[in-house]
Amino acid sequence: MTTKSREYLFSASVKAKAEQAAAARKDADRLACEAWNARMLGFRGPAPPSPAIGDALNAGYAYLEVKCLGCSTHQTVALDIVRRPKTTPVHELERYMRCKDCSAVRRYAFKRSQLIALRPSKITAGAPPSEMWPGERD
Ligand SMILES: [Zn+2]
Repeated sequence: MTTKSREYLFSASVKAKAEQAAAARKDADRLACEAWNARMLGFRGPAPPSPAIGDALNAGYAYLEVKCLGCSTHQTVALDIVRRPKTTPVHELERYMRCKDCSAVRRYAFKRSQLIALRPSKITAGAPPSEMWPGERD
């Protein structure tokens, strides 16, 4: 006499629950990124608390838009190549941002920058930098 294996009995429900959990995590990460973006674009901060790098990547936000306070250009940083643990909150990256152009002109690492928002893509002609505030130059 044989019985049905546990694999046969439960594997479908185990798989379904795991998929539900992954979908819920992705949803939560996306909402956290949207909430942070709304706060940064609407109120310009405060940046902390912010989603973790891994959460942003999971939600499909692969880039962080940063504005250099020296030359006021908006640039994007790819979050998947940042050499920090994936649990690092996004706002902690602010102090490591340096502008290549400003550093070349000044001959020292120019680090003053402002976090703008998380983005799913780089800045291109089709996906321009995020809205600027009225009265802001350029
Ligand atoms: Zn600059």
